[in-house]
Amino acid sequence: MVRNVEVYEKRALELIKQTEGILQSELWKLLGLDSREGSRIVLRLARKGIIRREQVVINGRKTYRLFPAEPTDRKKLNIIVDIGSILDIPCVVCPYIDECGEGGFYSPESCRLIDEWVHGR
Ligand code: SF4
Repeated sequence: MVRNVEVYEKRALELIKQTEGILQSELWKLLGLDSREGSRIVLRLARKGIIRREQVVINGRKTYRLFPAEPTDRKKLNIIVDIGSILDIPCVVCPYIDECGEGGFYSPESCRLIDEWVHGR
């Protein structure tokens, strides 16, 4: 495999940004990589959403022209967070929450409600 993937990815991205649309075979040549190694670098960058590939036909052969990704090209990351376990925390409805704090009269360290909630009583 490629000697130092991160170095090649960084250099490839620089070249793609500079050229604003380079053929992938030109990129491999500039990087000094063969087509197998070059394809891997390009696919890694594309999977990360850093570059965009556009299929083109050059001399009757299909290839790709590579562009820096626009913010709209980036894949959205959906994260599902389960907050069910903290919805019943007593602090949510506590009338003293604004006065509560470490070392204060109202404090999580001495709060009976929190203690009961944590220990499931
Ligand atoms: S720790 Fe206790 S006193 Fe403080 S906000 Fe939560 S429930 Fe209220």
